[in-house]
Amino acid sequence: MTDLADLSIADAGAGLRSGEFTARDLVDAAITRAAVTEAHLHAYLTLDQDRARAGADAADAAFAAGEDRGPLQGIPIALKDNMSTRGMETTAGSRILAGYVPPYDATVVAKLQEHHAVIMGKTNLDEYAMGSSTENSAFGPTRNPWDTDRVPGGSSGGSAAVVAAGSALAALGSDTGGSIRQPASLCGLVGVKPTYGVVSRYGLIAFASSLDQIGPFTRTVTDAATMLEAIAGFDIRDATSYRGDTPDISSLLDAGVAGMRIGIVKELSGDGIDPQVDQACAAMYKALADAGAVVSEVSLPASEYALSAYYLIAPAEASANLARFDGVRYGLRVDGETTEDMMAQTRAEGFGPEVTRRILLGTYALSAGYYDAFYGQAQKVRTLVRNDFAAAYEKVDVLVSPTSPTTAFPIGERTEDPLSMYYADVCTIASNLAGDPSGSVPIGLDDGGLPIGFQIMAPALHEAQLFRVAAEVERLAGFDARPALATSEVLPA
Ligand code: GLN
Repeated sequence: MTDLADLSIADAGAGLRSGEFTARDLVDAAITRAAVTEAHLHAYLTLDQDRARAGADAADAAFAAGEDRGPLQGIPIALKDNMSTRGMETTAGSRILAGYVPPYDATVVAKLQEHHAVIMGKTNLDEYAMGSSTENSAFGPTRNPWDTDRVPGGSSGGSAAVVAAGSALAALGSDTGGSIRQPASLCGLVGVKPTYGVVSRYGLIAFASSLDQIGPFTRTVTDAATMLEAIAGFDIRDATSYRGDTPDISSLLDAGVAGMRIGIVKELSGDGIDPQVDQACAAMYKALADAGAVVSEVSLPASEYALSAYYLIAPAEASANLARFDGVRYGLRVDGETTEDMMAQTRAEGFGPEVTRRILLGTYALSAGYYDAFYGQAQKVRTLVRNDFAAAYEKVDVLVSPTSPTTAFPIGERTEDPLSMYYADVCTIASNLAGDPSGSVPIGLDDGGLPIGFQIMAPALHEAQLFRVAAEVERLAGFDARPALATSEVLPA
């Protein structure tokens, strides 16, 4: 029998409702798995077993009383450690927030709890979500369950690793430039970034506010839809929250792709993409055409400049967002002669090198005399990127590409070379700039046994089309491999 820790949300929900097992059994299975895998992965920063067991017991008690709050009831879920959890340490992977315990829950956390989901704990991330490998965490890197000498991707690498390894059935991450989709790709999972504004960021520690979105990591496309439906919706406490009706997400999961117009992004194939990734995606383009889609090539000419624009806009916003970590209001304080000394020393000791680099970049790009040349230019490029997408969506319903130009890379390979690390998001960043929904679905393994992810992008609020294609890609790929760590002999029988 499948270990309970390896079930999808849908299968776990069926087992809970048929009485085959309890929420307590599910949580115990995830905790047992974590007891073995965490020594290899370091994916959790906080794993609160007592709270998780209490949450499971509450879900079981609700079932026993005939109360059913839907598909997440009793499901063990992990949260990226940049989401505020009342009474549970929230660090953003930074030394400056070590020991900080928020007095309130992020809206997504409150929503999961309303659904009687079980919060397992908080997962590792690149400090303030800045990075693509989880090596920028102040608390040490997370490793990839498929190959522990390799990175899980980032910045939500801990969330990806726990779902791949089986120490949670699903997780939430945040995606500013690719931080859900790229680690999902590197860990063989489904990961979705919804349309900007569809999920509340209230209680998410901000990185770049015009780009940040929260979304799910799951093992199946259906599970991702279930998670997104649970967390989406207008929130008065997030000024950027979308006020219209929550978009349809799951009604087209079984619709297939016959007659759909699918555009292959010309700039995201061939040069710069690992040949095995490129070939796997090309095979999927053909499979989609064979399944009845009208597949054509589409150009997004400004995407060439998207990465450069992002690395001005995101640091600029970060430099403003991170000004609040001053030694007075939160976390670490390093005393100095004057208040200014105290603040400077707190920030110098509290922030790691990548965060410091971003603050310097962002402050420079915003400073008088450079604003027009850097930040202003980047905003113009952002408009061009949006226009490219708008023009493309006149011709096609969705766009597709690889999610990541490579499969998981070795730990340490890119830490000395920020530009090569930034390049990890070359396929994902444009849809953040556009504010559109996008997701990654695993489609196979490379020769080294590492997962390859396939990206689907859709126009704003067209999540249903994204999920429609994602479900077909999942069926066509038939990907059901599990990582070495979740299947190896280190696990007790
Ligand atoms: N890797 C990108 C960066 O470092 C994206 C991070 C993210 O999406 N949070 O900024």
